[in-house]
Amino acid sequence: MGLLDGKKAVIFGVANERSIAWAISEALHAAGAELGFTYAGEMLEKRVRPLAEGIGSKIILPCDVTKDEEIKHVFQTLKSSWGGLDILIHAIAFANKEDLSNPYAQTSRAGFHLALDVSTYSMVALTREAAALMEGRGGSVITLTYMGSEKVVPNYNVMGIAKAALEASVRYLAYDLGPKNIRVNAISAGPVKTLAAAGISGFKDMLHYAAERAPLKRNIEAEEVGRAALFLASDLSAAVTGEVLHVDAGYNIVGM
Ligand code: NAD
Repeated sequence: MGLLDGKKAVIFGVANERSIAWAISEALHAAGAELGFTYAGEMLEKRVRPLAEGIGSKIILPCDVTKDEEIKHVFQTLKSSWGGLDILIHAIAFANKEDLSNPYAQTSRAGFHLALDVSTYSMVALTREAAALMEGRGGSVITLTYMGSEKVVPNYNVMGIAKAALEASVRYLAYDLGPKNIRVNAISAGPVKTLAAAGISGFKDMLHYAAERAPLKRNIEAEEVGRAALFLASDLSAAVTGEVLHVDAGYNIVGM
């Protein structure tokens, strides 16, 4: 008996096997959930399709979250194939490279809009669609954030603002959807070497710095985020909503 036997989960944000979303997928799959995947563009399909098929997934669809029609198509397919949904994983973020290296004050209007659209508004759009499929059965929505929302992390810049808005969105969505027994939570992960992380200037230094100062004296593994997501996706966390759970070896509690 798995914790998620019979549950249906849709995963947004796998780019390759290093993606945090993939580590989450493996944890949910091992617990018995049936998974559907999306990928952002043809280039990524080549990576995502074999991974998804390798764990028996039948729903593998394109979805650029800046395109409403692609979002609609994903949820229409989920409705016709599954009839409902239990778990939504949102593990998506993007900002222009220059906005992750120039001083924050240099952020252009277009760069600001892009980062907030892809990294923050997409959570609202996907949750709204998912909630319609969770109607009458309840559900769990999980997004990924980073401590750069709470404190200044050099070079994180506009993404810190996007994550602050994302965490506030988690609380507002949790409030809206609580009466339907749909829970909405975020995992604030410590630094993990992924494709998205490679876009942040000085990321290697972040890894060293975090491992040196975190109470557990190490970096985290993506699998540890996967296990935390399993907790938030399952009934083990039945009374937890609107929460930002730090999975960062304790780094966020240290002041000096
Ligand atoms: P990743 O590159 O593997 O995943 C990022 C995903 O965002 C990719 O799958 C990419 O296709 C997707 N994406 C970007 N633009 C998109 C768009 N327009 N439409 C649809 N999808 C789009 O990197 P990751 O580190 O696994 O990132 C997953 C999440 O975890 C992100 O929200 C990231 O901010 C967060 N996070 C990462 C770290 C870290 O250190 N890696 C730490 C904390 C939080």
